[in-house]
Amino acid sequence: MSFNKILTSDDPKYWSTDYVVESFQIAVPGGDCSIHLLINKNDTDFWTRNIQPNSSNQSLRQLVDANTREGLISAVLVDGGYDGGAKWTGVRAANAIRDALEDLTATYGEIKFTSWVVSHWDRDHYSGSIRMILDDLHVQYTKQKNEANLTDGDAKNRIKSSYFMYDDAGKCLTTLYSPVFDNKTWKRMKKSKWKPKGAHWLLTRNKTHSDLVDFLLLCTGKKPFQDMRRMKFKDVDLAVKLPGICRMCENYENLAGVDFFSVYDEEKMQNWKKGGGGIHERQITFTKLLEELPNPEKPRFLCVGAEGYVLGDNMAQVVHRPSEATLENFISICSLIVWPPTQDPKTDARASYFSGGDSFNNTESKLATWLAGTRVRVIKASHHGARSSTPSAMLESMKPSKFIISAGFEHGHPSKSLCVLLHILNNC
Ligand SMILES: [Zn+2]
Ligand SMILES: [Zn+2]
Repeated sequence: MSFNKILTSDDPKYWSTDYVVESFQIAVPGGDCSIHLLINKNDTDFWTRNIQPNSSNQSLRQLVDANTREGLISAVLVDGGYDGGAKWTGVRAANAIRDALEDLTATYGEIKFTSWVVSHWDRDHYSGSIRMILDDLHVQYTKQKNEANLTDGDAKNRIKSSYFMYDDAGKCLTTLYSPVFDNKTWKRMKKSKWKPKGAHWLLTRNKTHSDLVDFLLLCTGKKPFQDMRRMKFKDVDLAVKLPGICRMCENYENLAGVDFFSVYDEEKMQNWKKGGGGIHERQITFTKLLEELPNPEKPRFLCVGAEGYVLGDNMAQVVHRPSEATLENFISICSLIVWPPTQDPKTDARASYFSGGDSFNNTESKLATWLAGTRVRVIKASHHGARSSTPSAMLESMKPSKFIISAGFEHGHPSKSLCVLLHILNNC
C-alpha cells in the first residue's frame, strides 16, 4: 500500500451527514506528503446545483463530471517528501506519490488537485511533488511538440499538467500556496535571470501576472534535469520556461483564511492586496470565523497561519523566531480542517485535522490559544516530531485522538520527549 488512510471525520453523527474528508499520508522515503479529499456522500450531482451557468466557474461542471467523480469535490496535495539522505532529486518520492494517486484514482476516479500546498521551502517538503509535476510537464511538452508539430512557443503555451484543473480557455485553476521563501533570495533571483538560487529555483513569477507561477523545465539529453539542487546552464541542453503553469498565492496577508478545498478566489485576493481589510488584520476568534464562512455546510481546509502569524493575531505582535528555528521552518503554513457548526458555533466549533509543516512551539501555542479549547481530532506533529514543536499545552488543549508523525528516522525525529508525552496522555 502506498499510503495510510486517515479518516479525520469518521463519526457521521458528530461530523456531517453530507460530507466526508479522507486524508492520506503518502509513504515517501523522507519528509512529508499527504493528499486530502473532500467527498460529498449523498449528492452525486453537487456541481449542477452549485455551479451557476455562465459564471466564470461554469467549466468546472465539465471538468468535474459527477458521473466519473462520484461526489469527489476537491483534492489537495500537501508537500511532497524527498528521497532521504543527501539526495535532492525527489525521484523516489515522486514515484510514491504517483503510486498513491493510481490507487486513489481506482477508487475515486480521476484526481485533479484544486490546491497544491508547500508548507515551506525545505527539500523534504517539495522535492517529490515538484519532480512529479515536472516529469509530467516534460511528457506533455514533448508530446505537444512532436505530435502537433508546433513551434516551441505554441507548444509551451499549450502545456497542461495532468494533475491540475483548467477552465475552457485553458487557464489553470489550480493554485500553489506557499510562504514566501525569503526576500533576499527573491531579489537575487530577479536580478540574475535564469540563475535562481535556493529552493525556488524551478519557479519564477510571471512578469505580467504576478500571481502566476512559471515553471522552468530543464533537460539534459532526453531526461528532465535530475538534480534539483545544482543547476549549471552549460550542462543543460534545453531550458524551457513554461508560462503561467499554475496560480500562486504566497505571503501571510494572502494566505490567511484561504480554503484549500475551494478554487482560489483571485478577486478576493486582489482586494486584500489593496488593503481591503483582510482577515489577517482582524482580531477574529475561531467561533466568529466559523459563523462568517459562506455556504456554511461545507468543511473547509483553512490556512490558519504562516510566516509566524496565526489567525486572530492582528499582525500586531512582533514575530518572534526562536533562535534554533531556521527561517524556512519558522514560516511554515499551518492548516486546519474545520467543520461548520450544526447548532451553536460557540459550543459546537469543530476541527478534525491540524498540520503545521515544520512550525515551532511558539506558533503552535498561539494557534492553540486561538482555538480556545476546541478539540482537534487528528494532529500531525509539526517538524516530524522534533523536540522544539508540539508543546504539551497544545496537546492538552486540542485533545487529539489520533497523532501522525511523518519521520523518516533522520535528525533524531521524533524526539523521545514527544513519544513519552504522547504515551502519558494516551494513558490518562
Ligand atoms: Zn521537514
Ligand atoms: Zn523544514
